[in-house]
Amino acid sequence: MPPVFRFAPSPNGYLHLGHAYSALRNADRARETGGRLLLRIEDIDATRCRPEFETAIFEDLAWLGIAWERPVRRQSEHLADYRAALEKLTAFGLVYPSFESRAEIAKLVAAREAGGAWLRDPDGAPLYPGTAKQLPPAERERLIASGVPYALRLDMAAACRELPALDWTETGEGPHGERGQVAARPEAWGDVILARKETPTSYHLSVVVDDALQGVSEVVRGQDLFQATSVHRLLQELLGLPAPAYRHHPLIRDAAGHKLSKSTRATGLRELRAAGRSPSDICRLLGLR
Ligand code: GLU
Repeated sequence: MPPVFRFAPSPNGYLHLGHAYSALRNADRARETGGRLLLRIEDIDATRCRPEFETAIFEDLAWLGIAWERPVRRQSEHLADYRAALEKLTAFGLVYPSFESRAEIAKLVAAREAGGAWLRDPDGAPLYPGTAKQLPPAERERLIASGVPYALRLDMAAACRELPALDWTETGEGPHGERGQVAARPEAWGDVILARKETPTSYHLSVVVDDALQGVSEVVRGQDLFQATSVHRLLQELLGLPAPAYRHHPLIRDAAGHKLSKSTRATGLRELRAAGRSPSDICRLLGLR
């Protein structure tokens, strides 16, 4: 079977040079290996994703000369798949509701930080203090019945007790040169959200379900997602899904060394195109081909 690759942007802004690099790295891997290239639209966040950004993704990728298979999978059309995965994890007793607002969580974290350093996840965000995990079942039911919105979280300690030692195959360039088998450390993320108050799934859950359903064999993506792979491996094992190999490529940064953002116009593909740059100029700028 030919290898399967995917480029999976979120339509919450216009693509920039960093996206072009990731898409082209996927296209190059597919070409080198005789593999297939899929495009997946990661649009579960209804508040930030817009159809015009999706149209622009198609236009910009086609302009770059990238060909992807149809139909394109749009995550917002597959919520039932994510719900089924969530139900499986719930049946294992690994999911609990957390009712706090962002402000309440920030207060809980501040109280813990006042008593000493509080743990942060690999992206630098404070870990969820886990207060809702302690709620007695009757109180949980009362809150749910009263209509208070809640997120669903993974009981990370319980999940890690079931699967203590996981790793993944890194075929590329981890941020510190990691290659080969990399030990996963999902516990560093704490009780991650599996379904949000306003969205019945999360990035972590949808990405592992889709990579498996689409038969993705090698995930080629930026090093900013290297640490998230630990959570993805844990969810794959819990759900009995196959593990793809991972290739985390370096990030394209601006002159000041910052990760590119969708709001910095200077590196937007549309702006570069309007300024008369050609697709081969883009490849040259990115040091590709
Ligand atoms: N949708 C994610 C993003 O735009 C990428 C997900 C992935 O490649 O795993 O950052």
